[in-house]
Amino acid sequence: SVRVRFAPSPTGFVHIGSLRTALYNYLFAKKMGGEYILRVEDTDQTRLVDGAIENMLTGMAWGGVNHTEGVVLDENGNITQKGEYGPYIQSERLDIYKDYISQLLDNGQAYYCFCTKERLDEVREKQKEAGETPKYDGHCRDLTKEEVEAKIAAGVPHVIRLRLPENHVIKFTDLVRGETEFNTNDLDDQVLIKTDGFPTYHFAVVVDDHLMKITHVIRGEEWVSSTPKHVYLYEAFGWEAPTFVHLPNILNSEKKKLSKRHGDVAVEDFKKKGYLPDGLINYVALVGWSPEDNQEIFSMEELENAFSVERVSKSGGVFDTEKLNWVNQHYIKDADDAYLTDLALPFLVEAGFITEEEATTKYDFLKGMVSVLKEKLQYVKEITEHANIFFGNEVNLETEECREFLKLEHMPTLIDVLLDKIEIAEVVDEAFVKAMFKEIQKEHGIKGKNLFMGSRIVLTGQMHGPDLPKTMEVLGKQNCLDRISYVKN
Ligand code: GLU
Repeated sequence: SVRVRFAPSPTGFVHIGSLRTALYNYLFAKKMGGEYILRVEDTDQTRLVDGAIENMLTGMAWGGVNHTEGVVLDENGNITQKGEYGPYIQSERLDIYKDYISQLLDNGQAYYCFCTKERLDEVREKQKEAGETPKYDGHCRDLTKEEVEAKIAAGVPHVIRLRLPENHVIKFTDLVRGETEFNTNDLDDQVLIKTDGFPTYHFAVVVDDHLMKITHVIRGEEWVSSTPKHVYLYEAFGWEAPTFVHLPNILNSEKKKLSKRHGDVAVEDFKKKGYLPDGLINYVALVGWSPEDNQEIFSMEELENAFSVERVSKSGGVFDTEKLNWVNQHYIKDADDAYLTDLALPFLVEAGFITEEEATTKYDFLKGMVSVLKEKLQYVKEITEHANIFFGNEVNLETEECREFLKLEHMPTLIDVLLDKIEIAEVVDEAFVKAMFKEIQKEHGIKGKNLFMGSRIVLTGQMHGPDLPKTMEVLGKQNCLDRISYVKN
């Protein structure tokens, strides 16, 4: 059965592209009734970042891209592992790599190389000058067994390289890009084991994918040029290679690869702005894949049913923030008020609308406010741009236009009528306000813009805004009265 893996290197933040790679692996496994595994590739010891694994796992869990096998967090947030094919952290598999490299050394498919960095640099420089593609020149290929043993005994630093046969053709099929053919003459005798004794990514990835019975390798297109090396290794071991699927890059609006320098690229950045995980996942699924019809809003379950690698595009997908916002807005409109309020509170505190304490003491009011404002939000942080009308009864008449409107002939009457009617109300709720507006139309002939915009200006200081009856309900009777009185005087 199908087994796929997401194999992040714990080098820091979680790129939106990693979220998509993980998601596509997850969706493919779901669709095929297979397993989705998370393996940590930490063989590059120079690039490790503390907390990066936890960060990666938390990010994936936040997005709902869940795996049941591999490296997971336990209920206390500690790293643990689950499954029959472990360990799933490459730095814990060094003995395994040793066994497999011995196999290649024994049958002559790999060899020790003692070349210094200086020598390699020199060779490369000369090749470049001669207009050749830089490539290892095979200097250590034919050392005798005795020479090798003597150098190792003397403690000379070394790597282990793959011995590629000459002029050997290898083919592989990529489900997105079709069949690819390559000649070993164009490849390097790549390093399999580094000076520090750790395997290179290329070696570890092949050994692990084989031992973990991975059937499909779904990963970013930056790895496409490495695939021939991997395929050759499978052949050297006499193993069947998995099927490959290389995902197109995610591009920015200038059609360049999305990178940190161009604004938000970390899952964390989106989370911090109050994008909902469902919204981000829904949007990210569409960057590089399209459904058969024009559906744009997908729950995770719908994605699981609709996804297919055949519909992954060959060319890069553009990350379109406007489209993301549109999708996310959809999820915000549908979201539960309490859930949104919990997300909104930190932003309101940070922007100084409320204190930490008021987040609790004024919770009901704030939740009401969120329920009114959510129609305006593309992501939750935007609430700070709309919340001002709910704070402070000293109505701030924002524009000259507002102040002019107040001078209209009917306004003094409207203000007095509003005061009178609200004064005697038991509660000011949506139903009351709607009924009140009807009465005012009938009794005083004030209607349309004169009535609705006039009332809005008096109550909020603005000409446009969220639903007025609901806004008044959230403000409550006393606040409404105080505001109107303030404007009257
Ligand atoms: N560790 C690699 C990465 O960080 C994984 C590449 C692969 O999936 O083979 O992207």
